[in-house]
Amino acid sequence: MTATIIDGKAFAARLRGRIAEEVARVKAAGVTPGLAVVLVGDDPASAVYVRNKGRQTAEVGMESFEHRLPDDTAEADLLELIARLNTDPKVHGILCQLPLPAHIQTDRVLAAIDVAKDVDGFHVSNVGLLSTGQKALVPCTPLGCLMMLRAQLGSLAGLEAVVIGRSNIVGKPMAQLLLGDSATVTVAHSRTRDLGEVVRRADIVVAAVGRPRMVPGDWIKPGATVIDVGINRAAGEAGATRLVGDCDFESCAAVAGAITPVPGGVGPMTIACLLANTLTACCRAHGLAEPDGLAA
Ligand code: NAP
Repeated sequence: MTATIIDGKAFAARLRGRIAEEVARVKAAGVTPGLAVVLVGDDPASAVYVRNKGRQTAEVGMESFEHRLPDDTAEADLLELIARLNTDPKVHGILCQLPLPAHIQTDRVLAAIDVAKDVDGFHVSNVGLLSTGQKALVPCTPLGCLMMLRAQLGSLAGLEAVVIGRSNIVGKPMAQLLLGDSATVTVAHSRTRDLGEVVRRADIVVAAVGRPRMVPGDWIKPGATVIDVGINRAAGEAGATRLVGDCDFESCAAVAGAITPVPGGVGPMTIACLLANTLTACCRAHGLAEPDGLAA
């Protein structure tokens, strides 16, 4: 079998097109969705993410507010900025780029963001809403994975899903979303015994580990759908490095029914889902109809 390649780049482009149409509808009702992104420090990778977020936010017609603070910003000053953004009516989504400098307590900062503007979905109240099956803002990366799985498979009800990884930003919310769609969910992690045997049961495999090519093709059930969240640097040709996923793409693609590549799979969906969450937050804040299929 040769797997269908799930083209996350094309999927994300279509999603952004859809969001742009919905933003136009919301603007016609007199509201412009706005996303505030806060970056503390000068981590080059974070700066690139923030730039991309700002560009894509503007491209779909939303307002983008960027706040760049120096590395030595006091936690109290960051909390004060967040308090201002919480009450700013032009801001519907607030994202504080992680990681934060070591002298700032991430949990305190995330807890300070208004739950209704928490477009990263990391606030414990949103985590609780998701896990109790209520309307939440859901972390962007697993939301993107869910959208691609639904598009690929239709109903997920009754399917065996194995999520490898139990982080708060990917593994756990992914498991909750799959449960919400009535899959039978197993969450594997570094202490899981016989991981290969566990993964072989799965109709859906979501790998979110951070270990290059850890999942070989002989762990994959023939025809399974494989979502590879991992982004790892591995040695490429002539001393260069290249990005690879947590799955060994060639051997997995030979067995799977469908698979996301790295790069070009899950990655592009993450920012698109941030825009989707901002639009959702804006619609909820103003009592406007929420577009279908953009939230969990
Ligand atoms: P993380 O917080 O480091 O969590 C990794 C998880 O993998 C942990 O739960 C860990 O188990 C588990 N694990 C580690 N070694 C394992 C092993 N040998 N067997 C089974 N499980 C193992 O990572 P993360 O933030 O979830 O990110 C995971 C990957 O996704 C990374 O490559 C990251 O770069 C990528 N990522 C991509 C996007 C995107 O937009 N595409 C977004 C976020 C993350 P324990 O809990 O037992 O330690």
